[in-house]
Amino acid sequence: MQSSKLTQTLSFGLDIETGSGDDLQTGCLEARRIRNETNRLDRQGWEWGDVKSTVVDNADHVNNTTQLIVDKALGEIETYHDNKDDGWGRPYPYIDEPYPMVMNHGEGYRLFPEEDGTVRFRITATRGTHVKGQLCGSPDHFDRLQTACTDAEWRVGTAEVVHKHDEWRLHVTVTHENHRVASKHDADTVVGVDVNEDCIALAAMGRDGNVKDSVVFEYPSIKEQRHEFFTKRKRMQKANQTAFESVIQTEEQDYVHDCLHKVSRNVVEWVSQFSSPVIVFEDLKDMRESIDYGTRMNRRLHSLPFAALQDMVSSKAAWEGIPSDDVNPEYTSQRCPRTECQHTERANRHKKRFKCQQCEFQDHADRKAAVCVVQEWFDEQYGNVPSLDRLPGRVWVMRRAASGAGGGPDSHGYDLYSGVTSAGEAQPVSEQGAREEFKSVASALPE
Ligand SMILES: [Zn+2]
Repeated sequence: MQSSKLTQTLSFGLDIETGSGDDLQTGCLEARRIRNETNRLDRQGWEWGDVKSTVVDNADHVNNTTQLIVDKALGEIETYHDNKDDGWGRPYPYIDEPYPMVMNHGEGYRLFPEEDGTVRFRITATRGTHVKGQLCGSPDHFDRLQTACTDAEWRVGTAEVVHKHDEWRLHVTVTHENHRVASKHDADTVVGVDVNEDCIALAAMGRDGNVKDSVVFEYPSIKEQRHEFFTKRKRMQKANQTAFESVIQTEEQDYVHDCLHKVSRNVVEWVSQFSSPVIVFEDLKDMRESIDYGTRMNRRLHSLPFAALQDMVSSKAAWEGIPSDDVNPEYTSQRCPRTECQHTERANRHKKRFKCQQCEFQDHADRKAAVCVVQEWFDEQYGNVPSLDRLPGRVWVMRRAASGAGGGPDSHGYDLYSGVTSAGEAQPVSEQGAREEFKSVASALPE
């Protein structure tokens, strides 16, 4: 067992008894003023340290809350700098909608767990104004919150007051400082992960080199929606409608965030079926510099929040006690996985198809990449890779069903899309048409 920090955000409704939603509204409007002021000073070229102290001195929130709101606003400016190549607009200097209040537990807000399982709250809406009442939410989140409030190993962290869907909500972060996660050295199953802009591929390998199973979770709707949002933003930039542009950006972030949460849940569920798994990702820091990914991935790295997806998967896995690790991604997409061959060439990969130019081994390119991630992990850990001659003939492809208009994030999860037999025959499991056929002819190779 090894220990690591673990943080989760819990979401609750607010059943207000003292004070009112108007008080929270006033607090969020003050948060908006702070946020806009931060943007204004940043545009004027102020040092961020000076921005902070100046804004804090003039705010109507307790100092600690103001500092956190300024941090959030500066974080958005930072995100813009990271994404501007992909057409992200600079945060609009003056937003009209209320902004979340960010508060520290014990300072801006406080929670009081009761004997009967309920939890009372007190929120300082603005200096000297308190809003009190009871939290409401799912039993699951209440359990975790009760644990966080009562267990000495846990800490209740920052919370945000947000107004969403005509309702006031509190998003509370809870952190375990020394969460126990299994040691990667005790893993029986090594699950390699290959993240792409339209899918995530997983391959589970035992220590004997036997690939137990593999799966590809597709999320084409994220790519499509992102494209749509991108086009909308461009149109608005042309028309100088920057206020709407920032709304679109928020919509897009919410949409993608929601989808990625669902995908990461599917991933962890799938991984949990194996005994003592470890999840292995490609190291994103290395990926940005890697020759292999140079052209293929560079644009995509900016366009899909890969880091967010990996973080979600590894934190959800950590809750289940499953460890994560990462490897150098160099050549994982180009290398032939057969121990005998190992031929590495860019031409081996063509879109979703991997075909070794030397030994003619063929496979689904992303599943194959996931296998190579596992091999890389064995090599880095032990300097030795279990022998591999073939892959299971079947790749399960799960596609997130698009729900009517535009494939919203609330669709019914994954449809089993296609399995491919060892003979390379596609077996449609779903009635829906238009699908790519993924074939693996590994077992058809000469012995
Ligand atoms: Zn080969």
